[in-house]
Amino acid sequence: MKILLVEDSATLRHAMCQYIREAGHEPLVAQSGEAALQMLEDTPVDLIIMDVEMPGLDGFETTRLIREWLGGHWVPIIFLTGKNEDYSYREGIEAGGDDYLIKPISPVIIKAKIRAMARIAEMRDQLKQLNAELAVLSQLDSLTQILNRRTFNEQAEHEWLLAVRHQSPTSVLMIDVDHFKPYNDHYGHPAGDECLKRVTEAMKKCLHRPSDLLGRYGGEEFIALLPNTDSAGAERVGECINQSVRALALEHKNSPTASVVTVSVGGATCNYTTGHKLEDVIKSADRALYKVKNSGRDSCRVEDLASHRTLLIAARSANQLFRTAELLQEDCNIVTADSSDECLEIAENVHPDLIVLDADAAFHNDNYLCRQLAQRSATAMIPLLVLTDSDKPEQLLNASAPRPRTLAWLQKPFTKESLRAKVQILLG
Ligand code: GH3
Ligand code: MG
Ligand code: MG
Ligand code: MG
Repeated sequence: MKILLVEDSATLRHAMCQYIREAGHEPLVAQSGEAALQMLEDTPVDLIIMDVEMPGLDGFETTRLIREWLGGHWVPIIFLTGKNEDYSYREGIEAGGDDYLIKPISPVIIKAKIRAMARIAEMRDQLKQLNAELAVLSQLDSLTQILNRRTFNEQAEHEWLLAVRHQSPTSVLMIDVDHFKPYNDHYGHPAGDECLKRVTEAMKKCLHRPSDLLGRYGGEEFIALLPNTDSAGAERVGECINQSVRALALEHKNSPTASVVTVSVGGATCNYTTGHKLEDVIKSADRALYKVKNSGRDSCRVEDLASHRTLLIAARSANQLFRTAELLQEDCNIVTADSSDECLEIAENVHPDLIVLDADAAFHNDNYLCRQLAQRSATAMIPLLVLTDSDKPEQLLNASAPRPRTLAWLQKPFTKESLRAKVQILLG
């Protein structure tokens, strides 16, 4: 153990260091409370023996500061002092000390005290280690050793927030073992468990990126989150899983559809995450899985979430964006822009089927956005729907200014139905 001795008397320091070495430990020395605090900043110690009466910070004050500094990490502190009054003893323990010894102290007692404290510190270390192991275990499914449902959900939600921030495509795969009930019925539950473990190992071989997550979602149902993966990528992973499970060649005499254990994989990809929830993607993957189950099993199907149309929503505030995106997300893939320039850039690169502009003064200032969209060949043909407070929207635009081929207005406030109806008409 590293034992820090805080003591202002040179004679006592010398004697104590001797005892500490004889007991088989390494002494570190501080001549004052201040020096002790400084030393602790970069040297971890296992036990502190602290004098009380010292010039500058006394032992009690030093101990209070050490406890504050170490927070949840407990290091035993023993006071060694000439003050033998009851109230002083009480103050020492209240300051955060663990024992209180009166000088002069016999070497036998000090060595015994060090041994007792070492034992407690060792128990603390074991407890810490066990806690860390437990924390990991509680995240895993005990049969397959992959993430359990709760932890998968937590970690997937975290990845989802990153995807929303970076506007990156995200895919989810739901994987379900085919005809697993008859497998259990025929081979028995323990064999069923073994089968699930083998299937897990086969699936893991198809997930290569550190950010990919795999979890056990229910009995024989698994889920994978693939950040930064479009539907083509998700399909490749899904097909790899089909192939990898088939290659296990686990005999399944009771399967009406194959001679070996197979899985069905349903997937969903969300290309533009704004306005969507992870839950929507999981639901969509579940629907795709259902379709695979109904069309022969042992294959993979990945659908784009709301594979309908792409809609670019431009508004100044995140609030406005989110509100409008929420109203339309069931019908469309949503992309968002919060400035005129971003809107132009996305419109040119993503080619949305419709642009919805939540107009306020900043946006139709100088008709800039409208004119730019109209003048660029890549965007001139994209219909533009302007949401506006004005009851004479036509007057917002210069009569002579160029405008996109299709330009429509909707006056605020509007209902969800009227917005969706208008969008449907413009999308044709
Ligand atoms: P389908 O192809 O439509 O998915 O049919 P299925 O039989 O796989 O689906 P069903 O949902 O009817 O049955 C799933 C079975 O999985 C029910 C249960 O016996 C079994 N199961 C669920 N969890 C476990 C488990 O931890 N261990 C074992 N051995 N079996 C499990
Ligand atoms: Mg002293
Ligand atoms: Mg099944
Ligand atoms: Mg199932």
